[in-house]
Amino acid sequence: MTHEKSAKPDVIVIGAGVIGMSVAVALQDRGLRVTVVDRKGVAAETSRANAGSLTFSSVDPQNSPAIMRKVPKWFIDPTGPFAIPARYAVRAVPWVWRFASASRPARVAETRRALVALMGLSHDALPRFSEMAGTHNLLHNEGGLEIYDTEGEFNAALRNWERRTELGLTFEPVRGAKAISDFQPGLNPRFEHAIHTTVWHGVTDPLDYVEALGESFRARGGTLTICGVNTLTDGSEECDIRLSDGRSLSAKNVVVCAGAWSHTLARTLGDKIPLEAGRGYNTTLPPSALDLRYALLFASHAMFVSRLTSGIRIGGAVELGGLDLPPNLRIADALLAKAKTFFPDLETDGGTQWMGYRPSTPDSLPVIGKSPHAPHVTYAFGHGQYGLTQSAGTAELVTALVLGEPPPIDPTPFRAERF
Ligand SMILES: Cc1cc2nc3c(=O)[nH]c(=O)nc-3n(C[C@H](O)[C@H](O)[C@H](O)COP(=O)(O)OP(=O)(O)OC[C@H]3O[C@@H](n4cnc5c(N)ncnc54)[C@H](O)[C@@H]3O)c2cc1C
Repeated sequence: MTHEKSAKPDVIVIGAGVIGMSVAVALQDRGLRVTVVDRKGVAAETSRANAGSLTFSSVDPQNSPAIMRKVPKWFIDPTGPFAIPARYAVRAVPWVWRFASASRPARVAETRRALVALMGLSHDALPRFSEMAGTHNLLHNEGGLEIYDTEGEFNAALRNWERRTELGLTFEPVRGAKAISDFQPGLNPRFEHAIHTTVWHGVTDPLDYVEALGESFRARGGTLTICGVNTLTDGSEECDIRLSDGRSLSAKNVVVCAGAWSHTLARTLGDKIPLEAGRGYNTTLPPSALDLRYALLFASHAMFVSRLTSGIRIGGAVELGGLDLPPNLRIADALLAKAKTFFPDLETDGGTQWMGYRPSTPDSLPVIGKSPHAPHVTYAFGHGQYGLTQSAGTAELVTALVLGEPPPIDPTPFRAERF
């Protein structure tokens, strides 16, 4: 299906996930004519069925010496919170190596500063973006609860939260099973340590949210072309994109927001970007499955539980399995079985399983900036676990870069050249 208009676009955005649609609407708001090209349509991939949370407090990079100590386990447990399938292990090595080198304390401190800036921008941009895009009624600010297995993990998390108060991010430690059950009844009383925060926001449902952006885009006269993009070729005046049906489109500005597939397009321009698919899994149960009061993160298990219009979603895990291997739905099964031990009364029947490809860079930062080889191309991908959370800020930053305006935050840490 194609909704095409004849006039040549000012900007072509490749990818109609939460990043591409946010960027497209923000550019339209500045008066630009925008075409979005996606091989499947709006919200067809990772932005479709994520956990729907905007965790602006997530400013500590995934990279850390503590995570690196756990790497050997990733190879042993194929259904664990972090896994690398044996068939993919050799291909994952270069990315894991880069991940390790980005885990040095000095580098982690730099990454954290960049995340503070992007999360802060995204937090502040959200109200103006949602007002402009007409999505404010799909957002809520109910907060959430992080739950820890052990006192040691809880104390380490508290230290991180204490550092976050400098950023105005407030939290409240919750100690003891009784106090936790006041927030969330029905939880196994073995959990005695939690952190409550009001900083988290959420969407009623990620699919509804991105579809609403799609509606806003169309209502502003945007053109959606449903077709794959094979290659990009930058010229002196503009960039040409070759579609999989043989047609070409061109514009003075092309923005690549193709999620976990973006590096394959960047490669056609000569840019080598180490992007991996951090495959995540979930099961969406009927709304009656659990009386869920808050978005919950079981931090020791990389498991997230959220209440959405489509039901109770239980998921997480990071499997470095690339773009081509079939999903290992045993990971979704394992997460659900674990959730049943956390919530003994959880109704586990009638669920729908899903896998999504988190576009993951080895240093926990997205790639936002001009292509080093193609001046008419801007990149906006690699948001990993936080694409929804960082979407409004990314849209403002990309808009400034495309228009040549002063950027709202220092874009240097996000440049593609850093690899
Ligand atoms: C289990 C799970 C839970 C998550 N929970 C959260 C959460 O609670 N909060 C949060 O902030 N983030 C969360 N995330 C991460 C978030 O979903 C992603 O960061 C985000 O969806 C990435 O958006 P995107 O637009 O970059 O990519 P996508 O949504 O994957 O969109 C990319 C688009 O590009 C298109 N495309 C790719 N290649 C081509 C091509 N060659 N030609 C044409 N089109 C192409 C695809 O069809 C697709 O539509 C979660 C992820 C997972 C897997």
